[in-house]
Amino acid sequence: MNIQFSKDIPLNNQFDIIVVGGGPSGCAAAISAAREGASVLLIESTGALGGMGTNGLVPAWCPFSDRTKVVYRGIALEVFEKAKANMKHVKAGDLDWVPIDPEALKRVYDQMVVDAGVTVLFNTQVVSAVNTDKKIEYIVATNKAGILAYQSKIYIDCTGDADLVAMSGLSFEYGEEGSGEVQPSTQCFAITNVDEYHYHNSPFLHMNNPDCAIYDIARSEKYPLVVDPHCCNSLIGPRTVGFNAGHLWNVDSTNPFSVSEALIKGRQLAYQLHQGLKEYLPETYGASYLIATAPSMGIRDSRRIIGEYKITFKDYIERRSFPDEIGRNCYFLDVHHSIDKNEKIINGESNGEEEWESYSDGESHGIPYRSLIPKNIKNLLVAGRSIACEHRVQGSVRVMPVCLVTGQAAGTAATLACDTFDVRDIDTNNLRNILRRNGAYIE
Ligand SMILES: Cc1cc2nc3c(=O)[nH]c(=O)nc-3n(C[C@H](O)[C@H](O)[C@H](O)COP(=O)(O)OP(=O)(O)OC[C@H]3O[C@@H](n4cnc5c(N)ncnc54)[C@H](O)[C@@H]3O)c2cc1C
Repeated sequence: MNIQFSKDIPLNNQFDIIVVGGGPSGCAAAISAAREGASVLLIESTGALGGMGTNGLVPAWCPFSDRTKVVYRGIALEVFEKAKANMKHVKAGDLDWVPIDPEALKRVYDQMVVDAGVTVLFNTQVVSAVNTDKKIEYIVATNKAGILAYQSKIYIDCTGDADLVAMSGLSFEYGEEGSGEVQPSTQCFAITNVDEYHYHNSPFLHMNNPDCAIYDIARSEKYPLVVDPHCCNSLIGPRTVGFNAGHLWNVDSTNPFSVSEALIKGRQLAYQLHQGLKEYLPETYGASYLIATAPSMGIRDSRRIIGEYKITFKDYIERRSFPDEIGRNCYFLDVHHSIDKNEKIINGESNGEEEWESYSDGESHGIPYRSLIPKNIKNLLVAGRSIACEHRVQGSVRVMPVCLVTGQAAGTAATLACDTFDVRDIDTNNLRNILRRNGAYIE
């Protein structure tokens, strides 16, 4: 049953650009737009910036290098270096799989958006977009002050779920082509009072290491939610290990009931995994303490936009370059396995890697500006994990260094589009020159 609801609500139209979502892509978009002189409002539904890297407790950055040079530069590298400077156990030159202290990272994003002059609105959820003539006229959000409308010249959707695209009635893709299946989710967590000596000197816990204890825990059936050996982990602080471990299948991040159920199950999974670690690795985890599970569910994929250009698997394999590319990407096609394949993995017949594709040293592909432009709308850009690409490619471009790069490009492009209110009306050579001047890696 539907009901009609109408109400006079205040309209705020004082900003040039509104960025929705304060994850890596949203922060980079807001910072770059503000540095280019636009007045920017950044709306974030939680109480902290950083998205999956902070509220999601993802414990490590995906590699910043192609093993010959840094590929993700500009604001991405700035965020990364600032976050790293807070980590006393990380070497200054480390570039790949660097751990994340989530509290330090929150402060890095806070400081960078404040320094750039961005206005941040926390605890505010965007719930609707009102469109006319292929343009977003205004968006509607809710917070403690009630229901409010916000209007700007250009909007940037960095919600990770392409919420503004869906709210604007535009088409999108969801999950794998054909099946619609999304990658499993993971609720990350942190364990403290870990014995660091044994952490460093025991077989590394990882699904690629079939002799490690995670396989014993998963096979034991004593911990019924620990059904697979996915177990990335990093030392994120003194005696404290962050875990990106375990899988929850069939979580639909666009369905709040599905996410709520997953959060309850995810907290149980983290507890069971911790109990298993205590039992199977008592020297390392015997005295340890489960200090936090992520407040935000770890969603790997959901909606992807139908954009002016869709990055394809073939583009990835051919290491393709584009005349309008705004950055490069070298991360492997990291698509987490479906529930059907779990049995093979847990039986040691596969580590899931047969579906992964990765590059040799020094290789990368381009990300065209057009993959950030949703079709059939003039004043909207998308950055982060929902840019236009095939599902397998999303397994690569979804990670944080890439999201920071697409965010910076979207923020800069939005500033250029403020005069015409149309993100297609910009000179992409000019965009690329500005990005290059601001440190981006553009060949
Ligand atoms: C379990 C897991 C492990 C991962 N591991 C790694 C890893 O090891 N290394 C790595 O680099 N990457 C990793 N990733 C990928 C990466 O963390 C995310 O894909 C990336 O953070 C996506 O960035 P984003 O800006 O697109 O979205 P997000 O980080 O999801 O941020 C979106 C933000 O928008 C806000 N938001 C959403 N909807 C609304 C709305 N309607 N109104 C207002 N605000 C809204 C959210 O609260 C959130 O803060 C992992 C992801 C997951 C889920």
